[in-house]
Amino acid sequence: MTKFKNTISFIQDTFKTREFIPLHQPSFSGNEKKYVLDTIDSTYVSSVGAYVNQFEEMIAEISETRHAVAVVNGTSGIEVALRLVGVESGNEVLTQALTFVATANAIAYNGATPVFLDVDMDTMGLSPQSVENFLNEFGELRNNGCFNKKTGKRITACLPMHTFGFPVHLDELLKVCTKWKIPLVEDAAESLGSKYKGKATGSFGEAGVFSFNGNKIVTSGGGGALVTNNSKLGISAKHLTTTAKKPHSYEYDHDELGYNYRMPNLNAALACAQLENLDLFLNKKRSLAKKYEEFFKQSSLKFRTELPETKANYWLMCVELENLEERNEFLIETNKQNVMTRPIWKLMFNLPMYSDCYRDDQVNARFLEDRIINIPSSVI
Ligand SMILES: *Cc1c(COP(=O)(O)O)cnc(C)c1O
Repeated sequence: MTKFKNTISFIQDTFKTREFIPLHQPSFSGNEKKYVLDTIDSTYVSSVGAYVNQFEEMIAEISETRHAVAVVNGTSGIEVALRLVGVESGNEVLTQALTFVATANAIAYNGATPVFLDVDMDTMGLSPQSVENFLNEFGELRNNGCFNKKTGKRITACLPMHTFGFPVHLDELLKVCTKWKIPLVEDAAESLGSKYKGKATGSFGEAGVFSFNGNKIVTSGGGGALVTNNSKLGISAKHLTTTAKKPHSYEYDHDELGYNYRMPNLNAALACAQLENLDLFLNKKRSLAKKYEEFFKQSSLKFRTELPETKANYWLMCVELENLEERNEFLIETNKQNVMTRPIWKLMFNLPMYSDCYRDDQVNARFLEDRIINIPSSVI
């Protein structure tokens, strides 16, 4: 059982330890303590406070969008984004089966059904060709939108996910979505700082959503942000996530069914300090990726690098193994040696709550499910 000895040694040398090496740990090297303590000193720890506004400004700038709305987590951000582009109970939403469960859950929370389409082999994200094939077979444009003529249900959004920070083929996806009048929402939870043809991911669709969970590239402890260039949508998002309260100095007046999804100031303070170091994190991750790339050149494991015309944030780095048996051996060996590695997610339609959902042939998703493994990717 020493097949992957060289790889394990390389990772231990790179992280300069023989102790446990996590997949991704946050790095608090800046103003984190200062800003968090500041919220305590000021007593503004909750849903009102200067850091929330500052966080929203910083995210709008980083994502090159007009509006950013801070929310309690990425999942709630996607849920609200879908609702605001028009997803209603009984609709269908096109997405990938190779994703973290939050993508599908956000669809289901709206009472809609995920339609699982295949990913591209190169991006590991939703394939424009799969979307086009599906719509050519099942899509029908009527005057009130796109319908699935087999189920009779309305298709009200397309939700691609930028897997591990590698952007999907956005131009091609946007083209199909425009043709079929389906709003695009980006699950950009993993891709803060990633670019597609020079532009930030999250800024391409009607809305995009980032996550600031503890394991993401930047963390607020827990949190998310919904971004959009559509002012009406941005204003509605803020309204809806703050209990749909009408502005008034003392009256409690709410004009629709809203949510208490606003990010607390305490979390925003942590995120602001983290965001000040985003460029540093991106650079450090890029140099770690370069080291991995060099090392894996003389290995049977294929290290995933960014595609032409894109910049990946290298949030979680990954390798592709020969087959399922090799994958399992690699997982067992590395974890036994205290080097944390994890397989990519199970395909969504193999989970009990999504087992009845439509899926296409999933040739690429099934291939990747058997082979992709994340390796330690922390900022060092
Ligand atoms: C992290 C993540 C989310 C959102 O996660 P939260 O924990 O709710 O912030 C959504 N989609 C994907 C693909 C993710 O990786």
